[in-house]
Amino acid sequence: MNNFEEFSTYFVQNVGSKEGAVSPAVTQSAAFGYGSPETAEGIFDGSIKKPLYARMGNPTNAKLEGILATMDGGIGAIVTSSGMAATALATMSLLKSGDNIISIGGLFGGTYSYFSETLTRFGITTQFFDVDEFEKIEDAIDESTKIIFLESVGNPNMRLPDLRTIADIASRNGVVLIVDNTITPMSVSPLELGADIVVYSTTKIISGNASALGGAAVFRAINEGDDKFKTARYEEVHKFIKKMGKMALIANAKKRAMRDFGMSASAFSSYLTLLGLETLPLRMDRIVSSVEKIARALHLKGIKVNHPSIEGHEQHARYLAQFSKGCGTLMTIDMGTQEAAYAFLRRSKLATITANIGDSRTLALHMASTIYSDFDEETRKFLGITDGLIRISIGLENPDDIIEDFIQAAS
Ligand SMILES: *Cc1c(COP(=O)(O)O)cnc(C)c1O
Repeated sequence: MNNFEEFSTYFVQNVGSKEGAVSPAVTQSAAFGYGSPETAEGIFDGSIKKPLYARMGNPTNAKLEGILATMDGGIGAIVTSSGMAATALATMSLLKSGDNIISIGGLFGGTYSYFSETLTRFGITTQFFDVDEFEKIEDAIDESTKIIFLESVGNPNMRLPDLRTIADIASRNGVVLIVDNTITPMSVSPLELGADIVVYSTTKIISGNASALGGAAVFRAINEGDDKFKTARYEEVHKFIKKMGKMALIANAKKRAMRDFGMSASAFSSYLTLLGLETLPLRMDRIVSSVEKIARALHLKGIKVNHPSIEGHEQHARYLAQFSKGCGTLMTIDMGTQEAAYAFLRRSKLATITANIGDSRTLALHMASTIYSDFDEETRKFLGITDGLIRISIGLENPDDIIEDFIQAAS
């Protein structure tokens, strides 16, 4: 259990303060006095770094943003009211009517309907591909492709993308790559692998105990020389590059999304998320090793488990080669039928039946009757949603207790 040592030190040292209140201050104010007209002017033109109005940012949020940006090696971050808000912020700040998105791999239900139903109403289309359809993906890119989007781990299909290869495709074609890293904070470093923007639902493992809805987008710096954002494809961003240089993506997202859509995080949610961050490395370490142990034990008992740590999983080799720090808290089991899945959920004494993931407690949910109940059969098939599928998010309990409980629930 030593996967995340650098973060163990960094988080606790930076969440707390060495002087005054140790716990982060919650700045619960919607507005901020500027003191003088000159300061007001400077705050509005960005030359003075002071809070403008809580829709545009707040000191508690800024603290969380600084830590998350460092975690991912970004130039900055923006925290939002939810994970969906972070995806909306990152995408809406780049898209216009007529553009298209390429989405790769398994996709969170909300993101799938955002792409396939909501964005289409605004003239933005999305093509969906499986993780390894590299040729088809490259062929699908045209001059209106603005975003390649993928999740670090397909939720709930557990397929693992080859991030580096996809990042190479994105960079070769000058298209922005956005990675939803909700399931694998610290284990996967999308910006290092060539992504441009990382989005999170901090509601999940980052805050970790179902106390706060939140999201974050982490942005890379604009390069001094060539940069895909300086090409005609991203024309709308150019004025921000001129004014803000390497910080342009933050300025663009703040104006295009935060100011105009208002998906701002609350200071209190950011405070709770900061408290969660302090123990994130410890919780991830524990859960990543528990998941492997539990998946193996259930597999040996003949339960149909989907987790890439299991030999025979389609991406087992990729798991070993590229996911040395695990792939988060999730696994799925397929009980064959809805009735059998319901029976498992009724019999399990430990699992909390809920739509959340990444909690301190073990959570479980039957997929087809809940999150995916609105989706037609073909879409469910593409997303890997079978009738008996239960998504499980392993918690901090003793893994042997979970194994014992699940085996009795499955029998
Ligand atoms: C939960 C989740 C989201 C959405 O986050 P909310 O905070 O619920 O809005 C997005 N992506 C993934 C992978 C998620 O698990």
